This record gives sequence, structure tokens and C-alpha cells, in this order.
Amino acid sequence: MLRKLLLNTASQLSRGAHTKAAVAGTSARKIGEKSKAIFDKEDKYGAHNYQPMPVALCKGEGVYVWDVEGNKYFDFLSAYSAVNQGHCHPKIIQALKDQADILTLSSRAFYNNVLGEYEEYMSKTFKYDKVLPMNTGVEGGETACKLARKWAYKVKKIPNNQAKIVFADGNFWGRTLAAISSSTDPSSYDGYGPYMPGFSVVPYNDLSALEKELKDPNTCAFMVEPIQGEAGVVVPDEGYLTGIRKLCDKYNVLWIADEVQTGLARTGKMLAVDHENARPDIVILGKALSGGVLPVSAILADDEVMLTIKPGEHGSTFGGNPLACRVSMAALDVIKEEHLSERADKLGQHLRKELVKLPKSVVKLVRGRGLLNAIVIDSKYDAWDVCLQLRDEGLIAKPTHGDIIRFAPPLVISETEINECIDIISRTINNIANN
Ligand code: PLP
Repeated sequence: MLRKLLLNTASQLSRGAHTKAAVAGTSARKIGEKSKAIFDKEDKYGAHNYQPMPVALCKGEGVYVWDVEGNKYFDFLSAYSAVNQGHCHPKIIQALKDQADILTLSSRAFYNNVLGEYEEYMSKTFKYDKVLPMNTGVEGGETACKLARKWAYKVKKIPNNQAKIVFADGNFWGRTLAAISSSTDPSSYDGYGPYMPGFSVVPYNDLSALEKELKDPNTCAFMVEPIQGEAGVVVPDEGYLTGIRKLCDKYNVLWIADEVQTGLARTGKMLAVDHENARPDIVILGKALSGGVLPVSAILADDEVMLTIKPGEHGSTFGGNPLACRVSMAALDVIKEEHLSERADKLGQHLRKELVKLPKSVVKLVRGRGLLNAIVIDSKYDAWDVCLQLRDEGLIAKPTHGDIIRFAPPLVISETEINECIDIISRTINNIANN
């Protein structure tokens, strides 16, 4: 039986220990010397700020990835939901190649002939007056916070430097000093102080706790994920999103929805807030906005909010570059043309219906929406070891918080493919339960 190695926690957590275990393991898929050379090189020359699963990928197509040994896997992480459209989607790659030969970067010092077209496309797709393009998801979050503070002073008339932004317990929006200042996870914030002032945290999915914070006349915004991704796919109660909308209206506070992970069809709607027809004041998008090809993020807002930032007051050298804009329009076209929201909704329901049949002695809980799902592994077992066994059977996923495994395949996955994945997962979990 795969008993959790309680006494061996420290060595289990070291990168080398996992690498060794995997190489020595009796894999159906062999992780050999080629992979080991790659693990060792990263270990020697790269900072140790990540702990990857021991598999060295070299190629991706649709829902599949291949490692340097030639093993083929189902990708059940999709680069943390950046590859919703599938790896190397031909339409997105073609847009990249076509634009790369013409103009990649103008900077915002000059106009370019793609940005305006992209802004119109984004505005019409998401029905907000304006878009502000950035690069990474965390920059989108930073931009939203800065915009909310500007609005606080210019429109809500909060006294200078007194504006407060409220976040939810368990939030994750990246790794900058502002993002970690709102974090409640010590592995994100510990050792990086002093922290950003003007932030407060309320429990997730708790409208009365939120209301207390919003009553403070200095509160300018509440920033929240419609489903918490990194916290382990935490789905709030029905009515939470409309409740936020009502409270924010009541207290004249901006609602910022962080849709970096949940947006762009992942949960079965274009935006996760669409499940409750709730409209945030600011929406942050990233990850799948480029189909995983380039770092592309953006925030959406209406004029009253967006136009509080004036020329020279915010920006980014790469934000809105023509290459990113072309790639992003192709990535959004794919979501619409291939009906990825509908597919995520339908296949997600099917996946969860099958996952709940897994032995309860191993899988305590199944949760999710669309194709953003997670299983919670009983504490007798180590989610990392479960992921190693899944890898050996041909499906790669990554554990979070020690006991949660996210199941989030590219949304282009077919019904036949998802059934194959369900077989792999059932076989692996049953094997663990019976040993
Ligand atoms: N917001 C959410 C909800 C995320 O899940 C993430 C990353 O996982 C981010 C923001 C940060 O995105 P990035 O890593 O591109 O900065």
C-alpha cells in the first residue's frame, strides 16, 4: 500500500528525492538517462524555485505531450489552464508565424496597425468599453489594483493613500510583492516582507464577512477568483457571485474578477462569472488568452474606471505588441469556432460523474466546474505518488497542497480521449486502493 511516508517528509520534498524515486521506479513508461540528464542540468544551473514532476517534455500536440524518451502522455494540467486550445494549435501557430515575419514589437511609443483591431475585438467579445493589454497574469492583477486605486481617489474620493483592496482567503494571483502581500499561503509570502499596505483578507465564499469590509468607506475594490484555482479548485456556493455584485453596488466598491485561470471557456462558459450572469467592474484575463503561445494578459473595464489612468501613468514595453495581439485574436477565434465552452461543460460533467465512482478510501472528494476539476486524496496517501503512478500510465497531472490533484485537460479533448483518461485514472486509483 502507498502509505504516506510521514517520517521522510524532508527528503520527499527535495527535488532530487523525487527524481531518484521516479528513475528507480518500475514505470510502464520508462524515465531513463535522457530525462535524468535534463533533470540534472536544471538542478545544477537553474534556481530551485520549482519542483517539477519528473517528466521532461519536448513536444505537444492537442491534448498530448511527449517526453524526450518518446513516451506519449495526456496532459491533464494544460500549463495551469494556459493551453485550453490544445498544444500548438495550428491556427494560433499560423497567426504567430505570419505576424512574426512582419512586425513583432513597436512599443506603445508609436501606434501599430494591429492593436486597435485587437482592442475592438476584445471589447466586442467581452462587452466592456475598453481593454488594457499586459503580458503575464500577475501584471493583469497589478494593473487591476492600480486602476482601482486611481478610481478610488478620482471618482470615489477616498482620501489620498487610504484606499483599501479586499481579497479572499486562499487567493492566488501570482508572485509579485503585491500579489504575495494579499496571500494567505506562507510558502508564497514568508520571508519576503515588508508587505504592501492597504490590503485586507476575508474568508472565501462568505458574503457577510465581505459586507463588513465593504462598509469601510475607504474600501475601493474586492478582488476574487470566481473559482479558486491554486487553492485546489474551490467552487463557491451558487449565489456568491451575484451576492458580490449586489454588495459592491451597495457600497460603491469595484468588483475585480480574476479570471486568469477560470476564464476563456475553462469552466464551461466564456467567463466563470457568466454562470451567474454577474458582471464585474474589472475582469483580468491571461494564460489561455494566447493559447499558451506567448505571455498575454489584459484587463477589461468600462470608461468610468478605465479612463482614470492617463497617458504615462501605467504601461509595459511588450503589452499590446502586434505579435501578441494577432496570436490572441486567433486564440479567441479557436475558443469560439470550436465551441470550447460547450465542450468543457459537457465533458466536465461526464468526467465528474465517473470520478465520483472511484474508491472513497483513496479519493475523498471530487469538485470542479467544466474542465477545471480536482480530486482530494485521502491523507493515508501522498498525492505526489498518485501523480507518479498516473504518469507511468500515460497521464500527467500535478498535485497541490499535498493532497489535491487538479484535472484540467486542454478543452479540445474528445469524448473518446476523455474516456481513455477516465480508464487510466480508474485503473491507477483502483490499483492503489487494492494494494
Ligand atoms: N491569477 C490566477 C487566478 C492564477 O491562477 C495565476 C497563475 O496561476 C495568476 C493570476 C498569475 O498568472 P501568471 O503566472 O501568468 O503571472
